[in-house]
Amino acid sequence: MSDSKNWLVTGGSRGIGRAVVEAATARGDRVAVFARKPATEQWTHADRVIEIHTDIGDSASVGSGVAEVFDRFGSLDVVVNAAGVHRGGRIGDLSRQHWDEVITTNLTGAFELARAVVPRLDAGAALINVGAVVGFRGFPGDVAYGAAKAGLSGLTQVLAVELAPREIRVNLVIPGFVDTDMTSALTGRAREKVVAAIPMGRTGRPEEIAQVIVGVADSPYMTGSIVATDGGLMSSFSSRS
Ligand code: NAP
Repeated sequence: MSDSKNWLVTGGSRGIGRAVVEAATARGDRVAVFARKPATEQWTHADRVIEIHTDIGDSASVGSGVAEVFDRFGSLDVVVNAAGVHRGGRIGDLSRQHWDEVITTNLTGAFELARAVVPRLDAGAALINVGAVVGFRGFPGDVAYGAAKAGLSGLTQVLAVELAPREIRVNLVIPGFVDTDMTSALTGRAREKVVAAIPMGRTGRPEEIAQVIVGVADSPYMTGSIVATDGGLMSSFSSRS
């Protein structure tokens, strides 16, 4: 019998999620990817990836996407919720539309995903949410994103407790500042300031976050944990902005 695993990775088409897909398929696992648009880069192991076009903020879309995954795979061992959007703006500037977009994708999406998959998960399964340092530390201009990621931390810890009796583990992995499409708009002086606040003095690579997510997925006695992989950002004092 094969001991390869079946994964579902939301936001797997790009960035951190994509690195998780590549890491899982490199070891022989199969992955279903949820994203609204197709991946633009080729997969290294395309025969182990299925893409299902799903909007994580839409409950009907998530429900039909999850049903398709179970039809195709039969079961799921690891569910990674990496879908996310960022919309910045200090309190006087952030629109209600951007607030709703961020909360719907980053927080309500995690709820929709959990309630669609959890009833069908078996003992031993792992659910991993991708949080952010700004869910724990005040960063100016991140009122919506920080609120959504703080909410994701609460959701993770409640689910960890609720699902522990079923031996389903739920954890939160917190990347620091990682070079992806999401962060590519930050350039020049603003970027220099962020990098200067990172004790290790550099940004992270998606593969470095994926490595931690794979480790958390494989850790049988870890649940409700908040695992930062951020070059020390959570541990440092931030500069005045
Ligand atoms: P990214 O490169 O912008 O990728 C975002 C992914 O989410 C894409 O696959 C995107 O695909 C998908 N997505 C966005 N909205 C979606 C929706 N409504 N339904 C389904 N999929 C959706 O971002 P990233 O930097 O890899 O971020 C991945 C996760 O890490 C996010 O949760 C982010 O908040 C978190 N994070 C990132 C950083 C960082 O520095 N990059 C730091 C901390 C935390 P489509 O657009 O095609 O739907």
